[in-house]
Amino acid sequence: MQKITLLGATGSIGVSTLDVIARHPDKYSIFALSAHTRVEQLAEQCMQFNPRFAVVSDAAAAQKLQQLLCESDASTEALWGVDALCQVAAAAEVDTVMAAIVGAAGLVPTLAAVKAGKKILLANKEALVMAGGLFMQAVAESGSVLLPIDSEHNAIFQCLPAGYADSGKNGVRKLLLSASGGPFRGRTLAQMHAVTPDQACAHPNWSMGRKISVDSATLMNKGLELIEACWLFDMPAQSIEVVVHPQSIIHSLVQYNDGSVLAQLGNPDMRTPIAHALAWPQRIESGVGDLNLFDIARLDFEQPNIEAFPCLAIATAAAQAGASAATILNAANEVAVQAFLDQRIGFTQIAEVVEHTLNCQPLTEPESLEAVQHTDNDARVYSSTYIKRLEK
Ligand code: NAD
Ligand code: MG
Repeated sequence: MQKITLLGATGSIGVSTLDVIARHPDKYSIFALSAHTRVEQLAEQCMQFNPRFAVVSDAAAAQKLQQLLCESDASTEALWGVDALCQVAAAAEVDTVMAAIVGAAGLVPTLAAVKAGKKILLANKEALVMAGGLFMQAVAESGSVLLPIDSEHNAIFQCLPAGYADSGKNGVRKLLLSASGGPFRGRTLAQMHAVTPDQACAHPNWSMGRKISVDSATLMNKGLELIEACWLFDMPAQSIEVVVHPQSIIHSLVQYNDGSVLAQLGNPDMRTPIAHALAWPQRIESGVGDLNLFDIARLDFEQPNIEAFPCLAIATAAAQAGASAATILNAANEVAVQAFLDQRIGFTQIAEVVEHTLNCQPLTEPESLEAVQHTDNDARVYSSTYIKRLEK
């Protein structure tokens, strides 16, 4: 029986994770669930999965949650705050931590789980983008098993050769990262000036939280994923190529030096990578239907359009610049995406905010968690101020 802490239980990945877990009550049990503010949804999840702890972000939410739990005779204890998230992520009883909080808020609890040597199912790509060096060093030191949930990285993981890390990459030449192109594929930059948050969040193939949906629409998501892949697979940015594949059936590919290219295919449903990582190295049912190649009939591929989607080029440059560039990129992007969702800036201004912040913030070596948090905070202050100027 694997005991699991699920950070970000009420989100898109969280709900899909619980769906897979509910199919295998003999294999998995929940130790703790967490949510930011959606107390009612979290209380319902607690009634179904009966965790020992449920964690929310503030004291008022914890009080409300405890009241709901008491009314329903649930034995779950409500906790709140980052320290509680770290506590349930690192608890001795826990085998596996699903890191599915969105954004920089996931970094500290995910690192706590890594340092405690847990098996980590990593959906929270921002944690790796903002603190990749520290994160991977902590993984190496603790011997924690790190399994990617992002569908592209999970696909690459599945296509890598045995002994990849220990044998000089064993013939792998290049990683080919699939991108759907998002809801605005085929448009010019000018045709995206007036798009609304709801249009940006209407992804053609995947149903996801609003932050990652906007990232998918700007292609910043692919830029973040390129940086994520550099860290996960110890690959330079030059050896990772983005391939736009609108059907989202091939989730990514690995090219070998003998001319072989291995791909992982499947219906676009996050329960596949979640089930893969939960059961690895075994396989379990995920609830995802069989792939019907006759229905799909064709698979298309195209180059990404960097002029229309500058965020991909900005992120690639940040990956190549190294040092604190990815931390700054991630922070500015989180601030800009929130401003777009709040309708304070336009869609195409997201790239402008990120690029401007990167150009104006000094690059430093991210030597400690405190240094990363300092860089993250400075970039947030700078981009928020820049956005205020744009609003005028
Ligand atoms: P979501 O917005 O649906 O859910 C986010 C979760 O994080 C919620 O449970 C929310 O309560 C919690 N949360 C938000 N802010 C928080 C804070 N400040 N402190 C503590 N908890 C907080 O997002 P999602 O789509 O499930 O994505 C989660 C992560 O997984 C993201 O990093 C995303 O990039 C990654 N991811 C998602 C998908 C997908 O299909 N949804 C695919 C690949 C990777
Ligand atoms: Mg992805």
